Amino acid sequence: MSPLEHASREEIDAYQNTALEPLLAYLQANSPFYQRRFAALDFEVADIRTVADLARLPTTSKQDLQEHNWDFLCVPRREVAEYCSTSGTLGRPVTIALTAADLARLHYNEYLSFACADGRPDDLYQLMLTLDRQFMAGVAYYGGIRQTGASVIRMGPGNLAAQLDTIRQLEPTVLVAVPSFAVALVAHARTTGFDLNTSSVRRIVCIGESIRDEQLQPNALARRITDGWNVRLYSTYASTEKQTAFTECGHGRGGHHQPELLIFEIVDEQGQPLPAGQLGELTITTLGVAGMPLLRYRTGDICTYDDAPCACGRTTRRLGPIVGRQQQLLKYKGTSIYPQAVFNVLHTVPEVMAYVVEASSSDLETDELEISVALPAGADEAAVLARLRAALRAGLRVLPALWVQPLLDILARQQAGDPRKPARFIDRRRTRPPF
Ligand SMILES: [Zn+2]
Repeated sequence: MSPLEHASREEIDAYQNTALEPLLAYLQANSPFYQRRFAALDFEVADIRTVADLARLPTTSKQDLQEHNWDFLCVPRREVAEYCSTSGTLGRPVTIALTAADLARLHYNEYLSFACADGRPDDLYQLMLTLDRQFMAGVAYYGGIRQTGASVIRMGPGNLAAQLDTIRQLEPTVLVAVPSFAVALVAHARTTGFDLNTSSVRRIVCIGESIRDEQLQPNALARRITDGWNVRLYSTYASTEKQTAFTECGHGRGGHHQPELLIFEIVDEQGQPLPAGQLGELTITTLGVAGMPLLRYRTGDICTYDDAPCACGRTTRRLGPIVGRQQQLLKYKGTSIYPQAVFNVLHTVPEVMAYVVEASSSDLETDELEISVALPAGADEAAVLARLRAALRAGLRVLPALWVQPLLDILARQQAGDPRKPARFIDRRRTRPPF
């Protein structure tokens, strides 16, 4: 446990203010990208003394990182221990180089995260995710779990039958999985007559997809896992650039911030910080990163934060669910929609086995939206589509084009981009909102 998890707001602020000066000095000395940024300021970067002062500095965009990737590296190449990369879901992938100390920091972050998600040394974790392909999260989870003293089974993604066999044979207590894969696991268990309630699994740490609505209640995806299975879900949220996760405790009231490792702001379109409860873009400043530290990096993720102490006893701020990504905002028939809102509606209809939401540009440069769904063999297609249309109208106030397609076609389209992360949203628009 980090002492800052139970510190007062004043102590946390004091810690972060103290951490800022060495970070800025480090960037000034070692980062070609930030050296140029600082040189263009009309004041001295040393004038930035507190987290509140950060708002005077310009933000860093994903585009900056894409275009000047190696100018962010602060150490000689021989000091790099591992090269990870972003998924490239939103444009060109970015390489993040980590030193040995950065890897240790990553493991410490996940050690705190899994401990926060009620992890114990006697747990056995089954990892249902990629541990190669330059995927940072895989090694982060692995190292963090080992640091808690618990045991690990590295199963990799996919292969439902083998995952269930391993649950039977090795009796893991916790799964780490993408929630939609857990839904598929539940369905596979049901068809093979395996009652998951008799299994050893008590908890699932859910990665990559949101399991809560904006009121932090379990969303339809979460309910599809827990309907009929007495298992507890914990959400964790991270990204390669952040090198830091926000993970829920057992009270499920947002992902806990780890103030030792990261400064975060929720900012408006001009990059100015917003107070607790207001929706804005998550902007992060890494602490303790040697390889590629980031200063006021705009993640593109839209969310709120909660400042109130948590029932678990931690005093750290908590991040609400990501309601969408700035760059994925759609303007459809006069309504602003994030793809996540469409996913949330699709998850409420149990017959939807898989789906793809696709955006394109019309001849008039407006956004077009199409949804393709796969339904089970023998389903009453007309009746399901009627329910889906009603749910979409109620949830989105507009009705995108809706098609039924064979399951294998939809799965192939989901896998067409980065195989580490099946894409449920395909963006073919010619112009997108800026970062
Ligand atoms: Zn808590």
